[in-house]
Amino acid sequence: MEFVIASHNLKKIREMNAILGALGILFEPLPEGAPEPEENGTSFEENAYIKARAACMLTGKPAIADDSGLVVDALNGAPGIHSARYCEGSDSDRNAFLLQNMAQTPDGQRQARFVSAISCVFPNGDTLTVRGECPGEILRAPQGAGGFGYDPLFWYAEAGCTFAELPASVKNRVSHRAHALQKMKQALGEYYAKQ
Ligand code: IMP
Repeated sequence: MEFVIASHNLKKIREMNAILGALGILFEPLPEGAPEPEENGTSFEENAYIKARAACMLTGKPAIADDSGLVVDALNGAPGIHSARYCEGSDSDRNAFLLQNMAQTPDGQRQARFVSAISCVFPNGDTLTVRGECPGEILRAPQGAGGFGYDPLFWYAEAGCTFAELPASVKNRVSHRAHALQKMKQALGEYYAKQ
């Protein structure tokens, strides 16, 4: 069974194949030069659906897409769906901007979570959408050199380190994306059992 994944990111494609391949699903990337839809949804779920639906309509195949970001309680959910574009510049500029916006947030009120929504759209219009989350806290300075994005600021208490200090093999087991992928695996299994 062939699915299109609405991403050109090889790491994401491998991660999806590793978990959902067990269902007999093989993911192929979007064709080069495929137009990207405007992500104008108001939630992670809506944006994942917009991307998956566009890929499904373009290729005529079932398509899957994800949308993710960091949600900080003390900032009323920011940067949220705007995580990738929270401010101009690099990941470290965005981390600095986040720290600046949380300068007055006391210890004990710095809870946050990474969120990943994954949506799967079939050519007949059927849709499955799931959400995975991973809770943590925002430190006062970056720590660790691995990962990407907000990982150096994201304290993961269960492991006693930041996501940027966690081996990739561990992060890929406990992350928001891993949780969402496991839920999608279950949802797809149930969907095909009903056909
Ligand atoms: P996207 O859904 O892959 O486009 O990710 C959106 C943005 O959320 C990224 O550019 C990062 O800033 C942030 N983000 C999503 N997942 C992670 C993660 O696992 N670690 C750090 N930052 C993340």
